Amino acid sequence: MEKLLISACLLGVSCRYDGKSKPLSGIERLFEKYELIPVCAEIFGGLPTPRVPAEISGEKVITSDGRDVTSEYLKGAEEVLRLGKLFGAKKALLKERSPSCGSGTIHNGNFDGGLVPGFGKTAALLIENGFEVFGESDIEKLF
Ligand code: SF4
Repeated sequence: MEKLLISACLLGVSCRYDGKSKPLSGIERLFEKYELIPVCAEIFGGLPTPRVPAEISGEKVITSDGRDVTSEYLKGAEEVLRLGKLFGAKKALLKERSPSCGSGTIHNGNFDGGLVPGFGKTAALLIENGFEVFGESDIEKLF
């Protein structure tokens, strides 16, 4: 069965910065086609839950209280990539707009809800390594 990396928060795991999850409806269908590999780069990078929210600013990831957490985000991205390779996955379904998982659109770094084109650290690393990355609004493309 084809392997699919998936943001754990989309499966209902309460691993988001606010201690909540973002369960995606219709996810059950994925089990018919894929072996799901749940990942959370921010947990893998050593960050606590809940945690201070962070956004991408240039090449860095900065929390809303000004701390540079780039190294934690990069470590988490490497761990997700490692697991993806280990399991032989080629695709990932990742939470949109996250500074780790976002693909195509991310928050603008001002913590004002604004969005800009860009990629989270994990999504970018996976794409660099040949993975196909999908956001949750693209779930239909996985069938
Ligand atoms: Fe969800 Fe990804 Fe953020 Fe973890 S890092 S809470 S999987 S969006």
